[in-house]
Parts: sequence; C-alpha cells; structure tokens
Amino acid sequence: MTREELFKKIISHAKEYGFIFPSSEIYDGLAAVYDYGQLGSLLKNNIRDYWWQSMVQLHENIVGIDSAIFMHPTIWKASGHVDAFNDILIDNKDSKKRYRADMLIEEHLAKIEDKINKEVEKATKRFGEKFDRKMFISTNPRVVEYKNKYDTVKTRFANALNNNDLKDLKNIIEEEKIVCPVSGTRNWTDVRQFNLMFCVQMGSVTDDTETIFLRPETAQGIFVNFLNVYKTGRMKIPFGIAQTGKAFRNEIVARQFIFRMREFEQMEMQYFVKPGEEMKWFEYWKTTRKKWHLSLGIPEQKYRFHDHEKLSHYANAATDIEFEFPFGFKELEGIHSRTDFDLKQHQKYSGKKLQFFDAETNESYVPYVIETSIGLDRMFLAIISYAYNEEKLDDGTERIVFHIPHILAPIKIAVLPLVKRDGMPEKAREIMGNLIYDFMCQYDEKDTIGRRYRRQDAIGTPYCITIDQQTFEDNTVTIRERDTMKQERISISKISEIVKDKLNFKNNLGM
Ligand code: ATP
Repeated sequence: MTREELFKKIISHAKEYGFIFPSSEIYDGLAAVYDYGQLGSLLKNNIRDYWWQSMVQLHENIVGIDSAIFMHPTIWKASGHVDAFNDILIDNKDSKKRYRADMLIEEHLAKIEDKINKEVEKATKRFGEKFDRKMFISTNPRVVEYKNKYDTVKTRFANALNNNDLKDLKNIIEEEKIVCPVSGTRNWTDVRQFNLMFCVQMGSVTDDTETIFLRPETAQGIFVNFLNVYKTGRMKIPFGIAQTGKAFRNEIVARQFIFRMREFEQMEMQYFVKPGEEMKWFEYWKTTRKKWHLSLGIPEQKYRFHDHEKLSHYANAATDIEFEFPFGFKELEGIHSRTDFDLKQHQKYSGKKLQFFDAETNESYVPYVIETSIGLDRMFLAIISYAYNEEKLDDGTERIVFHIPHILAPIKIAVLPLVKRDGMPEKAREIMGNLIYDFMCQYDEKDTIGRRYRRQDAIGTPYCITIDQQTFEDNTVTIRERDTMKQERISISKISEIVKDKLNFKNNLGM
C-alpha cells in the first residue's frame, strides 16, 4: 500500500466510524473545515485532557485559563500579527490555483532529496554488504550533483526567507523550473504577502461596528492576562499559564485533511522565566514535551526535532517536534523561546506595566517566555495515522484495528452478551450500569461475537467484556484485550479495578 493509499484509507475510516466528518457535508462541505463525530469528539476530549492534566495537574506552578476568542484589536497590532502574520503566495495563471511559494520550493527540495535516497537505495541493493554509504554519497557523480544542487537551493531559499526577498523566491521558482502540479505550466504571478487573520464586525448598529480579528493563536490571550494571573494566583517565576482553544487562520493552501484547517484548536503553554535562564528552560521543555509524546507508547522513530532556519520576529530559539504523518515528517508541535517580545509590546501598546517583582533582589523585570504550542487536531491526526492498521491473523482472516493508546481511546469497555437470549443481555446491562460511572462504555448485542470484536477493534476499544453461560454460574466474564486479542476470565467485581489499573494516568505520565 502506498502512503497516499494509506492516508485515503485513514480518512475514510475516520468518516465511516464517526470520528471526523467534512463540515456542512449536506451542502457539499466547506473547505478545510471539519466536524468531529460521536467517537471523534470523545478522542479529541481525551487528548485535550491528557495534555491539560500533564500541564496543569502535574505542575504546581502551571495554571490554566480560558480566554475569549474575541479580543481588543490593538492586541494584534502589538503582537505583530497585523503587520507580519503573512504567508507568501503565488498564483499559477493557467490553473488559477494559489500556492504558498515557500511550500513549492520545499516540495522541490524534498524531490531532490528523494532522488538522492533512490540512488543510495539502488546502490545498497547492488553492492550488498560491501556498500559504503558515506563514500558513495561523497563520490558518486550523480549524487554529488544532486547534493550540490540541494545545498545551493536550500541556502538561497533560507536567505530569501530571512530577508523577505519575494523577488528572489520567484526567481528560485523560475530558475528551478518548478511547475504547477495542476496545469503543469510555469506561468506564475509575482510572489505576494497575504495576511492570514479573519476579520469580523462587532457591534449591532452598522455605523457603530468595529473590525476585530478571530484569534490566530491562543497565546496572546495568555500574555494579556499575565498580570491578572500573576497577581491573583500569587505566582512566582518560573511559572506557566496553559490554555486550550480555537484558533482561526485563513490558510492559503488548506489540504491534507485535518493537518491544516482554517478553524482548529491549539493547546498552548507560556512559561515565564527570568531573563538569561531561557535556554535552560527551552531545553527543559523540549525534553518534557518529547516525554509526553513518548508516554503514549508511539515509537520514538516517529518523532524528530527540527530546528527553525528562519526565526520568527519574536524568537531567539525555536524547534518543531515533527511527526511522521502518512505524507512524511511534518510539524506537530512548536517550542519557542519568545524572549520578552510579547509582554514588552503589550506594555508599550497598553501603557500598563507587565513586570514581575522579584522579592529576593528587590527588582522588577519583564519575564522571558518559553512557549509550547501543539495543534489538537494535528495530534489527533498523528494518533489515528499511527493507530490505523490492517492485520493478517494466524487463522488467515484479516482485521482493521485502531491501536489508539488505551488511555485516549474513545470507548474504554465494550459490554457484550455472548448471545441475545438466556438472560445474557439483562446481565450485561446490569454490569454496564455499574461501569458507566468510571468508563465510557458501549453495549452491543447485534451479530456474532466475532463481528462485534472486529467492530470494537476498528474503533480502538481496548477492552471487551463478554457475558456467557458461565457468568451465571460463578459471576465471571471474559475480558479481551484489543492488541493481543488475549482473553482472560475474571470476576465481575474485578473488572473496574483491572481496567482502571491499565488506564492509570500515573503509569503513563509518572515522572
Ligand atoms: P505551519 O508551519 O504548519 O503552518 P506554524 O508554524 O504556523 O505551522 P504555529 O503558529 O507554531 O504553527 O502553531 C502551533 C501549532 O498549531 C502547530 O505546531 C500546529 O500543530 C498547529 N497549527 C498551526 N496551524 C494549523 C492549522 N492551520 N491547522 C491545524 N493545526 C495548526
């Protein structure tokens, strides 16, 4: 199965089982907007809770807030978003399709990289054990040529981005003969800047309306509440403020399912530190966030760090945690050292002092900030991309299984009477009546038990409890685990304890 085929299967599986639907589907949808269905919303809530607990519950010095989406428009002037929250776009005059110029060049670079990898792969097969990879890369004329080209374009591209040199970005596209994937032509417009913020009118009378922005990130809601939280929470540096919530960006190219949406959700935490100590905390949060990802049991090789070549106007260090999605390694989370840029800007524009008073040194200062920012929807996509599996079983049959980390699974326990008679449904409902206070459960009595197990595998339910004849004799049921498919007989009174132990937050995140 190719990566594209796999990705298509994941998207249709997510729809078929009630995880994700295109928004406004009966009206033919709305580009880059999606709805979460009955199981998707449960999974999304569980991811959000897992993040929130790891930040707010496990850190004494991190508190959470929930700021409004509508904010004073000057906030976005101060933050730099009005002037600089732009993407660079280019149109193809033949197909009338719009692209991000930087993405066209990045994809071109990825193609050159692919060519190098293919040559290396071929040679590995040809030379077998004798193959010296390093030597081959540095001497094979074709590979050397590709490598030189790659390095030259990459350096020029980084410079053009850093200098905001839109002309040179266009030159690169032309000189590298990059074509429009739709029309196949090189009939490009100039490269232009495009602001990604959505505007809305606030106010009930037309003359009295004010243009405000839908927030493109949740972070500013934290900065403008810095003083409120610091004072009312009696916080001491270092401390963090966490928030989850919707953000809106008028993305030029919104493709790849829920990877890039126009309305999405972020989980952000701003950590306020003493100036000069930011690099120590930057490293701390890199490690801590990686641990959080690995705590879900997803293999380490699915993640990598990618340091930014071009730093944003506010940052003095930045790295992405990238995840290997079905379309390759892409940003999942950003960790940024934002200096004192945001608080200083809000001081300047609001005229209010946004400083921390250090009682030990008797000095006030504007704290520096380390930010961790992850897209909830992207995390959702990472989880389901990893989780989707088509497995061949020993008996020759196949199953589709969603290996969602147990702690995040939408349904934790399926309660299944072996057959639909002999009092088993009633007994099953009685057992479920006790479990629902602790776990999200699902009752199912339709079809054979085998088909019901498959249905639960497909939605990622970690445990199936089956009620059979023996249940009436000795008050036991079978418990089946999704990944191993192993079944055990346990006493009804032990179900809750056993499952709770397996879904224990501490077992995952114990530090
Ligand atoms: P990208 O380079 O992919 O556009 P970004 O660097 O602009 O992302 P940030 O501004 O750092 O992203 O936002 C933090 C996180 O928010 C990202 O790591 C990503 O997980 C998520 N995110 C950003 N834009 C979108 C979007 N359009 N749809 C879904 N998630 C998004």
